Amino acid sequence: MSAPPTGVTKVKGIIHMNYADIKSYDVANGTGVRVSLFVSGCTHHCKNCFNQETWDFSYGKPFTEKEIDFIIEACKPSYISGLSLLGGEPMEYVNQMGLLPLVRRFKEAYPDKTIWCYTGYDFTEYILPKMCKEWEFTPELLSCFDIMVDGKFIEEEKDLNLKFRGSRNQRIIDVQKSLATGQLVLWDEKGAFF
Ligand code: SF4
Repeated sequence: MSAPPTGVTKVKGIIHMNYADIKSYDVANGTGVRVSLFVSGCTHHCKNCFNQETWDFSYGKPFTEKEIDFIIEACKPSYISGLSLLGGEPMEYVNQMGLLPLVRRFKEAYPDKTIWCYTGYDFTEYILPKMCKEWEFTPELLSCFDIMVDGKFIEEEKDLNLKFRGSRNQRIIDVQKSLATGQLVLWDEKGAFF
């Protein structure tokens, strides 16, 4: 798995990430009011996915310095709790590559604000044992993420009463505690500071 066969878009010879949308006020995808970035490209193809147009890696627009500047500025107000990364699939190879400069700048500018990342990949079965070892971007990305909501959307597990996730199989993971302990630590909303 040194380089994936999918998820790479080339425009004029440049490999880059596309994005579908940026929301400056999102209260559905993480705690508080957040800025949300919906990236393009997803290989999971979950049944009844809410965002099927974003499966295509070339959907939307190229994600450039201009978009990074916009997001950093949009996150500035004190009422913004943080940044949420959704898709599409933020953890596809090309999207990890595209997200890293944003995540670095965000954490530098706002060390007390949080990053939530939604992924269809399994945190314990795939992200930690495979991506983290074989893809160069993954360890640094994880070091910046506060929360990951992992797992594919499964229609049969869908529950409209769930907070911040669509189906019961998906988990809300405290990334930093999980990395520190070497064990899966689920997010404890009551004890959380964000
Ligand atoms: S992982 Fe998310 S974007 Fe990808 S198919 Fe599943 S629900 Fe849709």
